Amino acid sequence: GLCQQATFMISAAKVDQCPADEGLEVAFAGRSNAGKSSALNTLTHANLARTSKTPGRTQLLNFFRLDDERRLVDLPGYGYAKVPIPLKQHWQRHLEAYLGSRESLAGVFLMMDIRHPLTEFDRMMLDWSSASQMPLHILLTKSDKLAFGAAKTALLTIQHDVRKQWGDAVSVQLFSAPKRQGVEQAQQVLADWLGL
Ligand code: GDP
Repeated sequence: GLCQQATFMISAAKVDQCPADEGLEVAFAGRSNAGKSSALNTLTHANLARTSKTPGRTQLLNFFRLDDERRLVDLPGYGYAKVPIPLKQHWQRHLEAYLGSRESLAGVFLMMDIRHPLTEFDRMMLDWSSASQMPLHILLTKSDKLAFGAAKTALLTIQHDVRKQWGDAVSVQLFSAPKRQGVEQAQQVLADWLGL
């Protein structure tokens, strides 16, 4: 697929450093350690996002080029305990500026550890996406950490809660990077949003 040619474009510390706001892009968000880097790498068959735990490495918006008109964007990971409050506030300001102004943003992928769903950060992203009518797709990551039945039950419960609170523009699926579970389903959502 097209995602296989994904290549790093640019890191933007601020909205005015983003690539031209043209074409379509899908942003990847998640609380730190939710499995965002692993999901990005698995979905693109590339080593786009370093799985480094160093907080400073994830403070920027990282843009990856799929083709002339399509991009993926790695948003800063939130909630890492060791990140100083001023840096968190810096991220939050720039994340809000990006989300609030980006015309080419077609949708948001939100990574949530299936064992720790709906954190404060997740709820903030869901509130924002429903208020701005932005499609949001949730990957329940690390599904392999639960037995199949437990994962399925968690999916149904979270799906029910999310639809009740945030409406039908939100979709949810199971995902496991090492087991490659849910890869095709997620790629199909990406392809739909990016007009592929
Ligand atoms: P990020 O901080 O959100 O980018 O999270 P990472 O992708 O770096 O993953 C955090 C940790 O969870 C790493 O140790 C990964 O190997 C692990 N991890 C990520 N996704 C999965 C998954 O689907 N299954 C399992 N078992 N571990 C995962």
